[in-house]
Amino acid sequence: MHRSIFEPEHELFRDQVRRFCEREVAPHYRDWERAGVTPRSLWRRMGDAGLLCTTIPTEYGGGGGSFLHAMVVTEELARVGANLGVAVHSDMVSPYLVHYASETLKRRLLPKLCRGELIGSIAMTEPGIGSDLKSMSTRAVRDGDHWVISGQKVWITNGMNCGVALVACKTDPAAGARGVSLVAVEEGTPGFTRQGPMDKIGLKAQDTAELFFDEVRVPLSNLVGEEGRGFRYLMEQLPQERLVIAARSAAILETQIEATRAYAAQRQVFGRLVIDFQNSRFKLAEAKAYAAMLRSFVDACVTEHLAGGISSERAAMAKLVATELLGRYLDECLQLHGGYGYSNEYGVGRAWVDARVTRIAGGTSEVLKDIIGRGF
Ligand SMILES: Cc1cc2nc3c(=O)[nH]c(=O)nc-3n(C[C@H](O)[C@H](O)[C@H](O)COP(=O)(O)OP(=O)(O)OC[C@H]3O[C@@H](n4cnc5c(N)ncnc54)[C@H](O)[C@@H]3O)c2cc1C
Repeated sequence: MHRSIFEPEHELFRDQVRRFCEREVAPHYRDWERAGVTPRSLWRRMGDAGLLCTTIPTEYGGGGGSFLHAMVVTEELARVGANLGVAVHSDMVSPYLVHYASETLKRRLLPKLCRGELIGSIAMTEPGIGSDLKSMSTRAVRDGDHWVISGQKVWITNGMNCGVALVACKTDPAAGARGVSLVAVEEGTPGFTRQGPMDKIGLKAQDTAELFFDEVRVPLSNLVGEEGRGFRYLMEQLPQERLVIAARSAAILETQIEATRAYAAQRQVFGRLVIDFQNSRFKLAEAKAYAAMLRSFVDACVTEHLAGGISSERAAMAKLVATELLGRYLDECLQLHGGYGYSNEYGVGRAWVDARVTRIAGGTSEVLKDIIGRGF
């Protein structure tokens, strides 16, 4: 399908990213799944190859590209079936710093994030709250020149490996959403511990952990942006995160439809190829048609985002539709593989398990419908 959003420079970049993914990621991915974590050394190699923080300005060590460069990395990792937390690092954590952090904090953290020397995480969810973020209970209390942070976060992507966590905390518990701030907590700070990787049903190579803060003292200058504006920053950046999830879902769906077509075109059943059953062709045709519609919508959303920032409603639509279609049609693709769909030998089974979380993390489908419904 012809896509008009990319220029030749993005396609050149895509070739480079594709080669990297095929050489450095795909052959090792099963080992990382078994280990439950991706080695830190991969991040260094990605940094050296210019695949991290592609949109971050060059003055901070980033690629200086546009959201299209970020899309290319997301799509190519999806193409080899890799779920690594790279988008969290490059397209969530780093942009928070670029948009809101002090110049000193930017200069201290961003170059290392861009090189992959530091891995970033964003810690919002707590054991007691996920969707209702403004009710979080992690506290940051001012004490002289420091914040003292106490609380616990859960389900944090890049949690075990992260060198810096942007932690959403209450600095004024009585002020509701206006009492939330973002504070950067660095690895090695006394009182900051973690436990993981968490025992998940999928995303086995993605490092997901619980973070604990026991009177963790960080300098006041580690505040990201202004005190009390953290919730607003989250709401400003979540649409991009949701668009990334939508783009990734579209790429996974296209990849698995093609893989299923290829499988069905060589598997013999009752003396016929699986693809020669009308049912198989109908299933694949339907999946292909919806994937093409999805691709058009996601690319239109990307164009809107490039033109000034996608609205939260449109980003919610993109993530909702993309992840629901992904779940539905990966299930059909797995079915067309028969028993082999249920094995780890073919990517479709892993993609199917991994895809389930996309309807939960980054805003559940129900929360997204709530956002869209508010527009009526
Ligand atoms: C693999 C993985 C990685 C993650 N990575 C991160 C990360 O890096 N950083 C981070 O901060 N968090 C992360 N999360 C957490 C994720 O964002 C939350 O799980 C998600 O926001 C849902 O929160 P919850 O799990 O507390 O569910 P809950 O909020 O308890 O929701 C339970 C159910 O109630 C429904 N519900 C909630 N509100 C409404 C409503 N208004 N109307 C109708 N139904 C509603 C939900 O849709 C859901 O079905 C990750 C989660 C997973 C599984």
